[in-house]
Amino acid sequence: MSIQVLKPKFHIDECLAQVRECLEKGWTGSGFKTAEFEQKWKEYTGHPNACYLNSNTSGLHLAVNILKRRYGWQEGDEIISTPITFVSTNHAIMYEGLKPCFADVDEYLCLDPQDVERKIGPKTRAVMFVGYGGRVGQLDKIIALCKKHNLRLILDAAHMSGTRVGGVMPGTWDGIDATVYSFQAVKNLPTGDSGMICFAEEALDKECRMVSWMGINKDTYARTTSEGTYKWNYGVDYLGYKYNGNAIMAAIALAQLPYLDEENARRREIAAMYDKAFAPNPNIQIIGAPYAQECSYHIYEIVVPDREALLAELARHDIYGGVHYRDNTEFSMYTYAQGTCPRAHEISQHIITMPLHMYLTDEDVNRIAEIVNNFVK
Ligand SMILES: *Cc1c(COP(=O)(O)O)cnc(C)c1O
Repeated sequence: MSIQVLKPKFHIDECLAQVRECLEKGWTGSGFKTAEFEQKWKEYTGHPNACYLNSNTSGLHLAVNILKRRYGWQEGDEIISTPITFVSTNHAIMYEGLKPCFADVDEYLCLDPQDVERKIGPKTRAVMFVGYGGRVGQLDKIIALCKKHNLRLILDAAHMSGTRVGGVMPGTWDGIDATVYSFQAVKNLPTGDSGMICFAEEALDKECRMVSWMGINKDTYARTTSEGTYKWNYGVDYLGYKYNGNAIMAAIALAQLPYLDEENARRREIAAMYDKAFAPNPNIQIIGAPYAQECSYHIYEIVVPDREALLAELARHDIYGGVHYRDNTEFSMYTYAQGTCPRAHEISQHIITMPLHMYLTDEDVNRIAEIVNNFVK
């Protein structure tokens, strides 16, 4: 049996039962299960606001769109971001005519507060922080920096579903303007494609509900259910987008959510097994996680001298590693920033993502670690 790097686990009977409710009711669009999932997510995370969307990418775009309007940002203003991320993070900044200004990463592959501070300039308006691998990195220091320099802070929490620090979800920390989660097909809480944006400020959540639904100022589900008969009339206040989440995806999310904590606990077990196996190997660098006992461990990466050779060696055993992520300044879109983040550039040529998912047995993990240790000498 081949071993994939990421493989979502679906609780199929529960998912089907939830989806069946949507089909029987004849409600698969926004509302119904999406409202229920927003409520459950608020209870689970402690966020006061949660707006369900069709993806995290849409959410990141909305965060920039809405904060831009709120704070009067201009085209050409800058948001400090990381080059080690899925390209959505940086495209979201570009969608609004703002410019990603790249800062280097720290030992956790998250934004390095010292380099962020160096890169703050007259046009800097915000910082976009990625909780890479589910890790919080030095988010506390980034929050302090943003407060000091009066910058907004957006948290790309695509990897962070279930990550806590001292029992608290870091996305809820004071000083973060918007936290955006992903429930894409291989994330810790997989649906098919969907996401959640959690604004700290209630007024921005209200605005987001309109902007994510074409700018329409009334909710179709509320119009239909609370008033008995469907009221067709509505206004349009914003140049909105069709970014709303749907009830089918929310139904799957509702079925998956009760398993998130126990599955993350299993992820931590696997990460600890890898850590233990690789620690004695001087040619393997482990990426540490602060508060590892509460990390969601969306992915587990190591740094090795010859990544391509190790990928090939694993493939020879029908085991498939991955690469998360290529330094974004290597993409033609972002070459203007080449050379500005030397650590990110260096490390992105050597990181390899190890298989980590619910279908791995302890034997699988030990066998993978042994193959890696025997090869990387
Ligand atoms: C997956 C991912 C995204 C995009 O999430 P979608 O829900 O697929 O839009 C953004 N940022 C990071 C770091 C991701 O891993």
